[in-house]
Amino acid sequence: MTNQELLQRSLAAVWHPCTQMKHHENFPLIPIARGEGVWLYDCDGTRYLDAVSSWWVNLFGHNEPRIKAAIAAQMDSLEHVMLAGFTHEPAVRLSEQLAELTGLGHAFYGSDGASATEIALKMSAHCWRNLGLPEKNRFVYLENSYHGETLGALSVTDVAIFRTAYAPLVQENFCAPNPDWRQAAEGESAEDVAERAAQALEKIFAENHERIAAIILEPLVQGAAGMAMYHPHYLRRVRSLCDKYGVHFIADEIAVGFGRTGTMFACEQGGIRPDLICLSKGITGGYLPLAAVLCGDDIYRAFYHDETARGFLHSHSYTGNPLACAAALATLAIFRDDRIVEQNAAKAVRFDALFGELANHPAIRNWRRTGMIWAFDVAGVAAGFAQRFFEAALAQGLLVRPIGNTVYFMPPYALNEEEAGLLAAGTLVALDQTI
Ligand SMILES: *Cc1c(COP(=O)(O)O)cnc(C)c1O
Repeated sequence: MTNQELLQRSLAAVWHPCTQMKHHENFPLIPIARGEGVWLYDCDGTRYLDAVSSWWVNLFGHNEPRIKAAIAAQMDSLEHVMLAGFTHEPAVRLSEQLAELTGLGHAFYGSDGASATEIALKMSAHCWRNLGLPEKNRFVYLENSYHGETLGALSVTDVAIFRTAYAPLVQENFCAPNPDWRQAAEGESAEDVAERAAQALEKIFAENHERIAAIILEPLVQGAAGMAMYHPHYLRRVRSLCDKYGVHFIADEIAVGFGRTGTMFACEQGGIRPDLICLSKGITGGYLPLAAVLCGDDIYRAFYHDETARGFLHSHSYTGNPLACAAALATLAIFRDDRIVEQNAAKAVRFDALFGELANHPAIRNWRRTGMIWAFDVAGVAAGFAQRFFEAALAQGLLVRPIGNTVYFMPPYALNEEEAGLLAAGTLVALDQTI
């Protein structure tokens, strides 16, 4: 298809996500025909540097030969079988490897991030019910949190634009202050902000723990909030508060897992182990939809019983899809073979130097980085900044999609220095054109 044909037919037949479709009367869709490394190409060969990893899912770049080969090889033996009553090697091997990486030995699979959130919330509340505490069925979430957009996930998501229209459909839960270090008062450190947020959390736990099943949070970086970053002290405090008050700790590592924050999982930087971890997005390197919720023996044992109804009866048709598990196994093999976490640490420091001029731009506030996520806020921008910047960046050959007045880079790890240089230079041009 040509670019033009693709656009017309898409607008007629495809309802695009997270979009007011009428806006496409003024802002064209971007047709994409293929991807290679950090680049996306349209039908005419115009290319865009994918600085957001296609909504944070792509890890090593597009068209990764090892993941492709693993999926193809799996396709030769088994494309899918139901995981209730049946099992297969890719699901077993993936569960074992995730257990080794997280210390949580029981893997339950879903199809996307929001389904992982639903699974974790249901698993936590059902666990308490099985333990004779059915009134523990509410959750604590953080200000500006994002955990997906199905109804359960929305009940722990604090982004008005996603939530307001559906508020009557959503259970009331407890919202706790977040530890975003940008809230630091004069003389206050990031750790002080984290401590303050932990004290506010303790108040909620102390008053309501008999009704609270779990707290769910995005460790270290609240992505959809606009890459709000915080001190790992908060994770340690949450862990000890959860132990003190008998509340499950659900770590939503859907966006921050798989090396994004500089360690394989963000929780490692707090030196803590949550009770439940939600994984998705990068788990298949960006190839196929897959999610996993991992828990330890204590939660698992609470369901293990002669009675069927005490089991966790949740299911999705594609639970543990073998092709997706094969892609995930190939992704984990790349982490080992290419020593990705170590390589990224060195890369990020080199990129910091390349981004220096940008970081010192007078319009920029709160320049920040955690692992392979860079972000900054732009001061004093008029309404519509995100859309104007997005278009100006596209004209520079960049896919950079601000959240409000926050511009961020969350690139595929394949990004090299030349490409990082192009990203910095193009972002500077787009910034000067839009402020
Ligand atoms: C993207 C995301 C989700 C939801 O994942 P989907 O696959 O879009 O449903 C949940 N939590 C976090 C932290 C995310 O970034």
